[in-house]
Amino acid sequence: MPAVEELLPRVSKPARYVGGEYNSVRKNWDEVEVKIAFAFPDVYEVGMSYLGLQILYHAVNSRPDALLERVFAPWPDMETLLRSKGIPLFTLESHRPVKDFDILAITLQYELTYTNILNLLDLAGIPLLARERGEDKPLVVGGGPCAFNPEPLAPFFDLFVLGDGEEAVHELIDLWREVRRQGGRKQDFLRELARRPGFYVPSLYRQEGKGVVPLHPDVPARVRKRVVADLDQAPFPPRPVVPWVEAVHDRAMIEVFRGCTRGCRFCQAGMIYRPVRERTVPILVRQGEEVIRHTGYDELSLTSLSTVDYTCLLPLLAGLKKLRLSHPLTVSLPSLRVDAFAVGVAEGLTAGRKSSLTFAPEAGTQRLRNVINKKVTEEDLLRAAEAAFKAGWQRLKLYFMIGLPTETEEDIKGIGELVRAVLAVGERCGVPHGRLRVAVSVACFVPKAHTPFQWEPQISQEELRERLRLLQTELRREKRVELSWHEPRMSLLEAVFARGDRNLAPALLEAWRRGCRFDGWREHFSFPRWEEAFTAAGVDPYAYAYRRYAYDEVLPWDHLDAGVSKKFLVAEHQRAYRGETTPDCREGKCVGCGVCPSLGVRPVLAEEGRDVSLSTGLS
Ligand code: SF4
Repeated sequence: MPAVEELLPRVSKPARYVGGEYNSVRKNWDEVEVKIAFAFPDVYEVGMSYLGLQILYHAVNSRPDALLERVFAPWPDMETLLRSKGIPLFTLESHRPVKDFDILAITLQYELTYTNILNLLDLAGIPLLARERGEDKPLVVGGGPCAFNPEPLAPFFDLFVLGDGEEAVHELIDLWREVRRQGGRKQDFLRELARRPGFYVPSLYRQEGKGVVPLHPDVPARVRKRVVADLDQAPFPPRPVVPWVEAVHDRAMIEVFRGCTRGCRFCQAGMIYRPVRERTVPILVRQGEEVIRHTGYDELSLTSLSTVDYTCLLPLLAGLKKLRLSHPLTVSLPSLRVDAFAVGVAEGLTAGRKSSLTFAPEAGTQRLRNVINKKVTEEDLLRAAEAAFKAGWQRLKLYFMIGLPTETEEDIKGIGELVRAVLAVGERCGVPHGRLRVAVSVACFVPKAHTPFQWEPQISQEELRERLRLLQTELRREKRVELSWHEPRMSLLEAVFARGDRNLAPALLEAWRRGCRFDGWREHFSFPRWEEAFTAAGVDPYAYAYRRYAYDEVLPWDHLDAGVSKKFLVAEHQRAYRGETTPDCREGKCVGCGVCPSLGVRPVLAEEGRDVSLSTGLS
């Protein structure tokens, strides 16, 4: 395989491609039956921050009969070199060509990485269309949140895995081995897998109107997601690979729980990863100790969708504090709930300099926060801000979303008022005028599949820009406010693919052919190129993003079952328009989202021992 060393002096950040990091695993190729290349379709520093990669790396490499090696999207300078020298894309561990592996698994985290996926396949020398790949080419498998509506990618993939991957990956490897030992073909393998929960084989379905239907009677009409019922029993990587160059999140991580039932109506993760499954404190303390001992990190991040909601947070922190380690340990939380308790916890964790605290009120008025089911009041935010300023923070970061359903000018002005109120609290708390800062970060609403807002249109680019201008005007006089926003055209593209169907695949192919890469990076994103691609493919992107979908129309993801019932999503959508909030089922009462009875699982809270049986319809 290529003299990688020859390439390295000619690219930026060569450490992205060398492999051999601490805790990386290199197995004897000839002694292993099933070889998997795992691709993260973005750069090394982003991919190495992804806990899911480390979990699968550990799960597969723990098996004596399988290996998993990593590959990331090469930066354009490396792509140019690979193409000019005719070197196929290679993995980091063995520097072998990706096309030599049995399986290429690609994680689908974000719609704006889709052109990178096509680029990875092409650089690997793997035909882009699944139907053009023979038996000698790797099986291309996708997983992650975007697998819950993968239709725009359907022609390029052999298989999608829905839901938690820890158990599914073993089932996949076992069956692959069995079929191959018996001399079976890829199609035999896929046909068998398609009958099992969690595996969606797009070539065994066809698009009919907007919906997707099976081609054969033995293939299920709906594919149900996989759920790991007991996270304490799930494999966790005690020896994660330590990146050579600083990753976006450069710290050790333990996953405190999976799932979130707060019920924000725009949030896809909150719907597709239900129910909540917490790990118990002794398991987490042990995992924290192992991961720190085996990496040397001095920071441990407690990850989840909302860590402050962990029912045993204080006992967990106390347990971690008691660890006898060779070096001091800082514990961090990735995001904070908007309340004073959360600030108190953050204060307890922060030693020395306090840089910035982040809260996500999401909307500027109580009316709109009720619409999106963000159960946070202005008083909560101001109390949290006061607690933060009194504890010594001088800079707060606030996340908002614009373009939300029912949003009016008043809601945008409400953001300005809320920010000014936070500044006033800072002044009252005696933060020096020149040091007080509020960073306001604004995202544009993107309707996502499997959420109560999946039927909602995205507002037009003109309207989005108009609302951003209004917000700028609102905050113009506030020199202590740093305003930033997500590029609306990127959010438009995200909305197109988030609710897309198979008819989008030719446009995606066109965009890649026209040079689109790293669409999630502002410096690479080219909307004119995408417009040309849509025109060439005869696709109207606005029909996907700007249209209000009807309750009774068949949706391109209806055949994929995340467990939450459509009846619940409709009810939530209607409650949003009535301004009614829905409680979190962790507060004790099931609100009937449907996950538990339909998947035979239940919420697991650490607080009460092993699990908590709410009235979910399960005995
Ligand atoms: S079925 Fe009930 S208990 Fe289970 S996640 Fe949904 S709301 Fe919560």
